[in-house]
This record gives sequence, C-alpha cells and structure tokens, in this order.
Amino acid sequence: EGAGWNRAPDAPREEDPALRPKSMVEMIGQRQVYERIKIAVDAAIKRSEPLGHVLFDGPPGLGKTTFATCIPRDLGVTLQIASGAALAAPKDLLPYLTNAEEGSVLFIDEIHRLPKAVEEFMYPAMEDYRIDITLGEGMSARTVNMNLRPFTLIGATTRTGLLSAPLRDRFAIREHLDFYSLPELTQIVERNAEKLNVAIDQESAEKIAHCSRGTPRIVNNRLRWVRDYATSRAAGEITLRVAEDALQMLGVDPRGLDPQDRRYLETLMRVFKGGPAGVEAIAHTLNTAVDTLTDEVEPFLLRSELVVRTPRGRKLTHLAYEHLGAVAPDGL
Ligand code: ADP
Repeated sequence: EGAGWNRAPDAPREEDPALRPKSMVEMIGQRQVYERIKIAVDAAIKRSEPLGHVLFDGPPGLGKTTFATCIPRDLGVTLQIASGAALAAPKDLLPYLTNAEEGSVLFIDEIHRLPKAVEEFMYPAMEDYRIDITLGEGMSARTVNMNLRPFTLIGATTRTGLLSAPLRDRFAIREHLDFYSLPELTQIVERNAEKLNVAIDQESAEKIAHCSRGTPRIVNNRLRWVRDYATSRAAGEITLRVAEDALQMLGVDPRGLDPQDRRYLETLMRVFKGGPAGVEAIAHTLNTAVDTLTDEVEPFLLRSELVVRTPRGRKLTHLAYEHLGAVAPDGL
C-alpha cells in the first residue's frame, strides 16, 4: 500500500444502518432494475415460489447489498449473508445451504472470489436444490446426494466478466447497477439529512451530490463528514459555504474527484505522457493493486470521459488535461 492510498475520512467505514433503505420502495434511482426486480418478486409471492437467482454487478457502493437486503424483506423471507472471499471450500458453504429455509435468500457478496471447487459444488444446488457430498476417503469414499429446501441465491460482483460463464448462466436475473444521476443523489442527501436530523438547503444538497462520484455510499459518507464539520465549525447548520469548505478539506475537487482519482490522472499525464498505458503499469507506479484501479477508481473516470480504454491501454482525454489545468497535446 502506498502512503498516499490511506483511507480518507470519507472512505467506506462501518455502514450506518440508519441510512440503508429497509425495503425496495425506499430505494432511490435504478428505476429500470427496480421495476424488473419488483415484477419478479411480485410473481414469486403470487405463485408461492422461490424467486429466481439474482446476480448484481457494478462498482462498489451503488446498492448491490442494499438490493440484496431489501429483496428478502419484500418477499417476507429470511436472509443469510456470506462473502465469496470467506468460502474457501465446499464445507464452508454447506451450513448456509442446509440452514436455508424454504424460499429464503442466501446473499454471497464478492461472488467472483469463490474458488472453482465451491463454484462447482453450487451448480446442482442452484439448479435442482441438491448437493453431492463426498463422505470418507480413498476406496471407501462414497457420494451422498442431499436435497435442499428451495432457496434464492443473490450474488454480487464488481464485474460480471470476473465470473465463469457456467456460474453466470445459472442466474435467472442479471442486473447491472450504474452510477446515479445528480437529482437522484440530491434526493438521497435530502432524505438522509432528515434521518440524521440536520438542516440542509437544496443548493448544499446538490453540492454534496455533485461531489460524490455518482455513488450513494460516497454521498452518505460525505454528508456525514459535512455534518461533522458543520457541528464543529458552524453551529450545526449546513450552508453552501460550510459544504464547500468541508469538501475542500477532504481534497475533493469541483468534479467530485478525490486525491486518489487525481493522482491516477496526474500519473497518466506525467509518467505515461497521457498514455496509452497498461493498467498494470499504472498500478505499479501508484504502488497499488490493479483491482483497486479497475474496480474502484477507473469506472467513474471512464464514465466521466476523463479516461478512455484503447486496445493498447488507458489514455487521457482532452477533458482530463483541461481538468488538471494542463495543455493537451496537439490533436487530442
Ligand atoms: P454495494 O453493495 O454495491 O457496494 P451498498 O448496497 O452497500 O453498495 O450501498 C452503500 C450505501 O449506499 C448503503 O448503505 C445505502 O445507505 C446507500 N444506498 C445504496 N443504494 C441506494 C439507493 N438506491 N437509495 C438510497 N440509498 C442507497
């Protein structure tokens, strides 16, 4: 970990349960995804059948876990939560599968991190609600077939491309979560300011929304930070001036980019002459993991058209030079 990559005060921390929507109707944005899931949930309830398996993909903080926790509440069923990184062998998955109540939801976060053996163990569980367990060893080993109660698997991953095709194909519903619009994020700020019991005007709410990289988790963290700042420095009220000062103190720029984003852009400009450069080389120079860049940093920069991906690597756009206050090379 490079020194500059320490967590900022607004980096993901213990999620505030008070701010997480409890049911899908409380969720803001993602309307098309919401409508499709609502129909599937409705049909499952009316037919008294388990909901088909659901896969969510998208950058961190866009609502994958929120959907996964709201869906079972709306279905009126229990939820178990597991993480792909912690399921090292089939036996780690076994208790979740055998404990799953009829129609209940098993949520596996970071499902792309499941080892191959666990993934394969899950295929019959997903398809026929059955598992094959091997008992004993060597000559005396035998396979026992066990039936499970019908359940729904909800998987979350930062990129569907990380999943093997056989696993991906076993999900009946696959949804991609995209960045949120400014009005949607503003609505989240206003609603959560109310929940946090802090006064905020619309201009300030928009300012925080605009500086949050299209991401609800970031909007919530920045709102909490601005609220702390207001409490400490400004008698508790969030005005535009207070919001701007607080965000500036985090190193957040007018586009909402944080120091980490800017270091990426500046490295690409200075070290790689604007690119194209391979993501491995950029990660190496920044002394960080490739996954951090591809999953957390790049999606918003690509979406903002500050960076483009070419067959030969990442390249800065004209907009990026402008944003960095530099002169773009001829022809860009
Ligand atoms: P992910 O699982 O994709 O990383 P989360 O579901 O944990 O993201 O979302 C992070 C936080 O953002 C949640 O705790 C919640 O407070 C907020 N959030 C996410 N999606 C929404 C939404 N559609 N409406 C309101 N708040 C949301």
